[in-house]
Amino acid sequence: MSQSPRVGVLALQGDVREHARVLTGLGADVVLVRRPEELASVDGLVIPGGESSVIDKLSRAFGLQRPVRDAIAGGMPVYGTCAGLILLADRVVDGIRDQETFGGLDVTVRRNAFGSQVDSFEADLSVAALGEPAVHAVFIRAPIVEQTGPGVEVLAALPDGRVVAVEQDAILATSFHPEVTGETRFHERFLARVTRAR
Ligand code: GLN
Repeated sequence: MSQSPRVGVLALQGDVREHARVLTGLGADVVLVRRPEELASVDGLVIPGGESSVIDKLSRAFGLQRPVRDAIAGGMPVYGTCAGLILLADRVVDGIRDQETFGGLDVTVRRNAFGSQVDSFEADLSVAALGEPAVHAVFIRAPIVEQTGPGVEVLAALPDGRVVAVEQDAILATSFHPEVTGETRFHERFLARVTRAR
């Protein structure tokens, strides 16, 4: 068995390169996943930020929806940021017509939850699971988690209580984008789970 965890970044649309750079910097062997064979070769998958409705459509066009769903159901560690969170959610509010998700994460998310007035903003979040220092979080047309099922742990919320980071078994998801700020602890948490699962 090789030392480096072999992980995929779903590479249909979005900030694929930013995730690949963080993961490579942490010592992972990174595969850009566009086909079922590529998915079958990895031990974990990152679903990037971007446009969830586009990634959804392309995943169906590329024959990846079913394999990704099966991988998640089989317990493969996954980490989704922003659009990735939406794609992992079992329920979406304010999706486009006929928008589907991979699902697996027992939450309801609201797309573009901060409206067009507040397109993007930054906030410092204390995340007990990661310890100090606080996470400097960048939100870009971000979703929020409106409802969580019993198996879902809330990792972070905004000062007003709106939930922006969650975990459920091998699924980790954030409304914000650690991959653009040099924050590596969420990716480290994901990689540790991949290493343990192998
Ligand atoms: N608003 C986007 C969507 O609905 C998500 C934005 C992002 O990933 N930065 O998919």
